[in-house]
Amino acid sequence: MKKLRHLYIASLLTLTTNISFAGEPAQVLLTKTGEQQWHVTFELTEPVRRIGFKRNPSDARTRRWLPESEVFQVIEISDEEFIQRRDQEPFSRASFTLTPTYISLPKDYAPFSPYSDGGMLIHSGRFFACANHCSESENEWHFRMTLPEDEHIIVSGQVHQKQVSWMDRDSGQKVYAGKQHPIETPSLIAVIDDGLPDPIRQSLETHVPALMNYFATRLGELTLSQKPTLFASYANVQGGSTQGGVLPGQIFMHWNVNDLGAKGAGDDFAPGILWFFAHEVAHLYQASKDGQVFGEPDHAWIHEGHAELLAAQGLEALFPESKDYIRERFQDAKEQCVAGLKEQKMSDASRRGQFGLHYTCGLLLHDAIDQQAMQQGSNATDVWQSLRDQVEVGEPVTAGLFWHVLQQRIPSQVVAHFRRFIESRSDEPEASLDQLYPQSK
Ligand SMILES: [Zn+2]
Repeated sequence: MKKLRHLYIASLLTLTTNISFAGEPAQVLLTKTGEQQWHVTFELTEPVRRIGFKRNPSDARTRRWLPESEVFQVIEISDEEFIQRRDQEPFSRASFTLTPTYISLPKDYAPFSPYSDGGMLIHSGRFFACANHCSESENEWHFRMTLPEDEHIIVSGQVHQKQVSWMDRDSGQKVYAGKQHPIETPSLIAVIDDGLPDPIRQSLETHVPALMNYFATRLGELTLSQKPTLFASYANVQGGSTQGGVLPGQIFMHWNVNDLGAKGAGDDFAPGILWFFAHEVAHLYQASKDGQVFGEPDHAWIHEGHAELLAAQGLEALFPESKDYIRERFQDAKEQCVAGLKEQKMSDASRRGQFGLHYTCGLLLHDAIDQQAMQQGSNATDVWQSLRDQVEVGEPVTAGLFWHVLQQRIPSQVVAHFRRFIESRSDEPEASLDQLYPQSK
């Protein structure tokens, strides 16, 4: 008996050692050595033949990470990127020179969002790496960042000179490195690119706090331990992409646009930017105490559509001059949604490169839900609160859960229309769209 027990413990120990070895998180050292000279080093306590990554949105590392010693390479195998030696020998340390320009990664955050003065917003999650392969259970990374003498780092809302270490986890965070100092308002900490045109800067400084107040009255105050941080960066380069996103307690917006100032003349410019801000701020307020309430990529209409509705409602309440713009947005959403649903059902949209349908059809869906719920004495915000309550007791954010909470607010035959709208392709999407709204509309 005694012997058996001893054996049991011994085998358990071996097992534990193997598991931790298989996925041991690599220590990450990020260094900036000069203008746009960024390097990353990974360190492990034991030699391995490969280092794998937690997040593998594309094979971009194979092209954008330059090994600092030619014995190393980044390769891609079955949609996963790995670091290894060309001779396959074990190693415990590898360094790369990075390409610090903006790229849009599929379903992931941009690793680098440059500021116009040479500063940089970096997504830490890009560097989550492990011995061999990152398993589900690996979720804690030690980071160290070193910058030139006159630059500082902002991590978790705190400013550090030149060097800092921290522990990172979950989806990672955005970390600022550069010379620009944050401004602090009663509602947020902001690092707004000095190179952004004045109207955008002013709009960020005044309108984002106003939108935050508005969403707080609808969805409750944020339950963060510290003020959220807003990062707005601007790379004045050839291109026309604008991207925003959120991570817990962080909102970020990036413009990769040449000469943004000259583009301010159009009538839609100001309300278009406000809508963009409002959408991102809305995501912060959608979150529960435990983090973001985001549906799976195939069901992104849950959070993207709802954020679009909140943006419309925020603009309508705070910026009445945006009325015509809001009407146009709904009209455009209807045209795009109708065209898209003739091609595929919503849950296939992401896979077929039609991610925009989650915004357009999602806006119309949540707007119709709002109107249907109002006939029963509640609204879309109440539906969201119910969803968030379920998430807080541990339910995953699925379409099934969404329909379930919706049933508590609107009659089940109406919920059935909503489900059909999302779950089937349609030859007459206009008719099924009309069916979503109350008869009186
Ligand atoms: Zn969004």
